[in-house]
Amino acid sequence: MPQEKSAGANPLPKTSPGDRGPVRQVDWGDFRDHIATADKEGRRQWLYPTRPRGRYYQRRTWLTWVLLAVMFGGPFIKINGNPLLMINVVERRFSVLGVIFWPQDNLVFALGFLLFLMGIAVFTAAFGRLWCGWTCPQTVLMEMVFRKLEYAIEGDAAAQKALNRAPWGASKIMKKGAKHLIFFGLSFIIGNTLLAYIIGWDALKVIITDDPRLHLAGLSFMFLFTLIFYGIFARFREQACTFICPYGRFQSTLLDENSIVVAYDHRRGEKRGRASRQEPWSQRQNRGGGDCIDCFRCVSVCPTGIDIRNGTQMECVACTACIDACDSVMDKIKRPRGLIRYASLNGIEKGEVLRITPRIIGYCTILVLLGVGLVTLLATRSDVDASFLRAPGALFQQTAEGRVSNLYLLKLTNKTHHKKEVELKLEIPEGRLSVLGGELELPPENQTSASVLVEIAPANLNSGTTPIRIGLYSEGKRIDTIKTIFIGPRR
Ligand code: SF4
Ligand code: SF4
Repeated sequence: MPQEKSAGANPLPKTSPGDRGPVRQVDWGDFRDHIATADKEGRRQWLYPTRPRGRYYQRRTWLTWVLLAVMFGGPFIKINGNPLLMINVVERRFSVLGVIFWPQDNLVFALGFLLFLMGIAVFTAAFGRLWCGWTCPQTVLMEMVFRKLEYAIEGDAAAQKALNRAPWGASKIMKKGAKHLIFFGLSFIIGNTLLAYIIGWDALKVIITDDPRLHLAGLSFMFLFTLIFYGIFARFREQACTFICPYGRFQSTLLDENSIVVAYDHRRGEKRGRASRQEPWSQRQNRGGGDCIDCFRCVSVCPTGIDIRNGTQMECVACTACIDACDSVMDKIKRPRGLIRYASLNGIEKGEVLRITPRIIGYCTILVLLGVGLVTLLATRSDVDASFLRAPGALFQQTAEGRVSNLYLLKLTNKTHHKKEVELKLEIPEGRLSVLGGELELPPENQTSASVLVEIAPANLNSGTTPIRIGLYSEGKRIDTIKTIFIGPRR
């Protein structure tokens, strides 16, 4: 939901000066003027979010175990002998679910990328930033791994704050030292895992076990990735989501009033104000008081430091910590849970459930069309990719038998897991074709180059250039057709 929308949609008027009763109207303050992690001068405000507890946090913990297993186990999983996922930009080899893709599959990549972007658009329009809160590696690692370790070593928010303010002594050195040592070690593992996804586990194993002097580039990347991850998780933290990640900024264009987001039910919560044991709830309601007791628990647990009661904001990563915090407060004051919950603006204001809007239908139509295009491309993807170019700088030659010859360079990519034997036939015009160096045997998932000599009798040639057609066959079946130009003498 765009910031402007949520502000406009909020029915509550601004506080008049001095209006600070026990049940009060909202002072919207200056939360739109600067981000929660910086003061008005732009200086970083270090956050100490309180440790979340609750059913959503528990579910996220279980999911984290699964995701960590996939994330760290991924480089070791092979399908048909190929990595589950490998993005080897250096050698331009890519493996997705064990299928090797080559740069020649650029159309597949382009469609796949469009499909990915459309998928994000549809998913976000319907479910907001569900991805960020539950599965994004940054949130999972920061909130469910590094933050938990920090709580275990330094204690909850108040203890962390006290430790940071305390003078340096043995206890502080021990705690800070242990934390940063563990953070650095974890960053090293994460950096190496990323490297394994790029170059493959087999290549990474060689870098680790071989003479370091032979792999200076690989070792440099290992160190660089470690430093970057350490910097992100030890210092940069939530700012990766609020400053760097473009996804949060897309929100304003992708979300609308029907998108399900983590939202505060202002109809139920306002007017907010401290609760008093002496005052019965019915009396509070008669005074216009809502269910929000202004305890700030939802703010204190927020890892990006925002107040969700101000409406959906770009900084919200939908981590659900505020839902858990508020639910525990509602339990204590014996009010129904869900003052903060997954809901759409229309859901809160009109009681609507998820509505399939024309925008979502439009997105889905494009998504389906792209999906069909991608599946068709994958189904008709040829096993062997051929590039056939005239040898650079070579002119035509006259053979002893009076034919005209042209030399070509053939590059073949075998995309399959099997060895392939390939045969070339000159189909138009009549002539002779020979592969220099013998038969064409292509190793699995590899590239092979060969020189090809084409000889054609002058009677079959045009003056100057003649179009020719060559059939590419494997196991008796045509797998590709090459069309190129043959150069001969001008008449
Ligand atoms: S935790 Fe719930 S009751 Fe407390 S301030 Fe937040 S919304 Fe209000
Ligand atoms: S507002 Fe709530 S859901 Fe959003 S980041 Fe903060 S705690 Fe998480």
